[in-house]
Amino acid sequence: MLLTFEQAKQKILQEALTAKPLAREKVSLHDALKRISAEPIISPINVPGFNNSAMDGYAVRLSDIPTSKVLPQAGTVLAGDDISDLNWPNGTCLRIMTGAPVPAEADAVVMQEETEKTPAGILFLNDIKMGNNIRRVGEDVKKDSVVFPQGKQLTIPTLSTLATLGISELVVFKKLRVALFSTGNELTPIGQPIANSGAIYDSNRFTLILLLTQLNCEIIDLGIIPDDPMKIKQALETAASQADLIITSGGVSVGDADYTKTALEELGEINFWKIAMKPGKPFAFGKIGHALFCGLPGNPVSTLVTFYQLVQPLILALSTHNQATLIPLSFKVKTATPLKKSIGRLDFQRGILQTDINGELEVATTGKQGSHITQSFNYANCFIVLEQHRGDIKKGELVTVEPFNALLK
Ligand code: AMP
Ligand code: MG
Repeated sequence: MLLTFEQAKQKILQEALTAKPLAREKVSLHDALKRISAEPIISPINVPGFNNSAMDGYAVRLSDIPTSKVLPQAGTVLAGDDISDLNWPNGTCLRIMTGAPVPAEADAVVMQEETEKTPAGILFLNDIKMGNNIRRVGEDVKKDSVVFPQGKQLTIPTLSTLATLGISELVVFKKLRVALFSTGNELTPIGQPIANSGAIYDSNRFTLILLLTQLNCEIIDLGIIPDDPMKIKQALETAASQADLIITSGGVSVGDADYTKTALEELGEINFWKIAMKPGKPFAFGKIGHALFCGLPGNPVSTLVTFYQLVQPLILALSTHNQATLIPLSFKVKTATPLKKSIGRLDFQRGILQTDINGELEVATTGKQGSHITQSFNYANCFIVLEQHRGDIKKGELVTVEPFNALLK
């Protein structure tokens, strides 16, 4: 069965919708970076908590201004002052600093730069608008309002807002537990001498660990499993008993040592897919017990592309219980270089999005695009997404680009 990329992605996300939600835990704000809120966050206070000044300047009543453009200064209010006993006579102004509470009778704060000190008092040089430079109570966040919904990833700005609200702990979803292993008799762990002339380093497991760390998953690393159906089956059983999601690399194609299929058929519901995408045609997806399973192709570029395009949205959907924000940012630009493309699959070529001498955006290829050319990613900052039906592309044609998100940075 040859699926289009969109069909495969939809099938994967569909599974995420029906998966059991992750358990919850309470964490301190200090430990909450990148975690996902498990309940709506309600503000306990107004922010600002009181009307305050946006400028260093002078608080005035507008009713005093038509009579005189010069008002004597009655006193000074600093940030942090308590103004409950403030005495502010009519016909005067108050010196006031940024962040200081503004008395209820004040109509505006005039910035210092629009005034002059005279022997008779402060001279107001320009017209004064009602409400100017007063930051209103609750203008940023209203007390009892929902600040963030369930399923919001807690970024630095998000946590900064929560700190402003005085929130010091919150309920988040537990991290998604992801078990992974590489398959292949040819694989040597990095850090060890290469095993023999047919061996290669197990770069995929290392890459996958970095990707899963970036996505804030709890990683269960089951190492390298040789091409042996029994050993693969055992590893899958171990993985399924401990994880919400199992990821493997290699062994999902049609080669003589591609045993993942045999092992899986006995254990769970597995679909072996051929997806009309390049790189990354062979891809296995399914379930073993409660754990979802993604079998990625072994070629390093295919592993990275299928992880980015298919596994990343799955992990986000499983972690947030939300598919709303999963459409990647993309737009069309001219290609500065011809692009080689065969008709029949959706290509995710690696490109460099840049500005030409006229200030227009353009994209250039990173060169050779084979699924073993790991270098094709190294200077890339976007995917060039070439539709299934297109063939070779000439310089100057419009192509769709998808800038890399934070996962590849
Ligand atoms: P496979 O998907 O198992 O048929 O492997 C496809 C290609 O990817 C072969 O050239 C493998 O040697 C290579 N490969 C498989 N697993 C890894 C890995 N963990 N790291 C680097 N290359 C791999
Ligand atoms: Mg293999």
